[in-house]
Amino acid sequence: VEEERLQKMKFKQYPNLDKYQVLEQMGEGAFSVVYKAVHLPSGKDVAIKILRKFQMDQQQKQAVLKEVTIMRQLKHQNCVRFIEFIDSPVYYYIVQELVSGGEIFTMIVKYTYLSEDLSRWIITQVAHSIRYLHEEVGIVHRDIKPENLLFEPIDFKPSANPIAKLRKSDDPNTKKDEGEFTANVGGGGIGVVKLADFGLSKQIWEHNTKTPCGTVGYTAPEIVRDERYSKEVDMWAIGCVLYTLLCGFPPFYDERIETLTEKVAKGQFTFLQPWWDEISDGAKNCVSNLLTVDPKRRYTIDQFLEDPWMKLESKSVPELAIPSRVPSRAKVSHPIQSQNQGGHSSKYS
Ligand code: ATP
Repeated sequence: VEEERLQKMKFKQYPNLDKYQVLEQMGEGAFSVVYKAVHLPSGKDVAIKILRKFQMDQQQKQAVLKEVTIMRQLKHQNCVRFIEFIDSPVYYYIVQELVSGGEIFTMIVKYTYLSEDLSRWIITQVAHSIRYLHEEVGIVHRDIKPENLLFEPIDFKPSANPIAKLRKSDDPNTKKDEGEFTANVGGGGIGVVKLADFGLSKQIWEHNTKTPCGTVGYTAPEIVRDERYSKEVDMWAIGCVLYTLLCGFPPFYDERIETLTEKVAKGQFTFLQPWWDEISDGAKNCVSNLLTVDPKRRYTIDQFLEDPWMKLESKSVPELAIPSRVPSRAKVSHPIQSQNQGGHSSKYS
């Protein structure tokens, strides 16, 4: 069966990648392509990020090596696990565990928005990965967005879907004429969520110590200060992600980059009607504490995990479902999709 599967794959074999057979493309970046591949000796599937060295300058190559250095240190169930790095004359290969469900971004686009329980399920896992990065490894991620959150799918029975009842308009007993929006809830739930793409991450502490990088004791106050504040960049991004999970569009959006930048700088966002009408005050309060312009007043990772909305008991975790139907408010033209055809949002930090 394995032979047959490989036979069907027409992908070229990459040089110096003998142990692996590339299977299919899963994603793409500016200089890279991410493929699903199989590790031939074990038969296990992996993900390989293949970077075209010949298109990169010295600085960009350094950035890849830094990404690898950071990834090597990470051992946490909510961070994509690094397997190996292969440096060939033409390509860099970063071999990682395969996270088979794909991006959370795709789930938002597919289902328009996610229920409060499912959003909490996702963001709690993101928070655990960030607490690990900030407190134990000494790294700020700096690029948290739904495209960089991957998940393992889990199967669940549609009948056991408790989430569908959380919002009035999601109630499966409501009129059937909304049935055209019924999502496929049989299987394909969101299980373990993993943070990916450490390409923009920055090391602020030496691994396993609470001392800054560089010569200890000689670090200037402004550097220490910058390190302290830089963690807050991730908290802001978590706020943007949580907002987006709950309603399906990002808190800050404008076609003009200048206007968008201004809105972000001033923290100008609203809980737009009618999309936010049925979302709880607890969730709004939590988002507001993350999207606080003053970094000193913004939630820290520990404050976020202690937030009352975050501590609400989710029902039947991990049997968390996508809302079983998109509510009527989704029929009102979508603020982003109508402008942008649901394209990737650009501003998270
Ligand atoms: P960008 O330029 O967007 O930052 P990148 O070149 O840094 O991209 P990644 O973000 O690491 O590359 O990966 C690109 C995409 O490939 C991801 O968004 C995801 O869809 C897919 N991908 C990456 N790593 C994995 C993985 N371990 N398992 C499954 N899919 C993955």
